[in-house]
Amino acid sequence: MYELNQTIITKKAHACGCNEWTIIRIGADYKIKCNQCGRIILLESEKLNKMVKKIKE
Ligand SMILES: [Zn+2]
Repeated sequence: MYELNQTIITKKAHACGCNEWTIIRIGADYKIKCNQCGRIILLESEKLNKMVKKIKE
């Protein structure tokens, strides 16, 4: 599963055009931060799973 500070790539790009995010909080909900504009969003794990295309190595 996901780990803190992991970079994920989403299927859809953020409004700013970036599709890479960093996981900054793990719990019942996840917080991810856009790597380009720094916007932070809160997501349920189910929603996160649907968004993620892959985890960046
Ligand atoms: Zn962004």
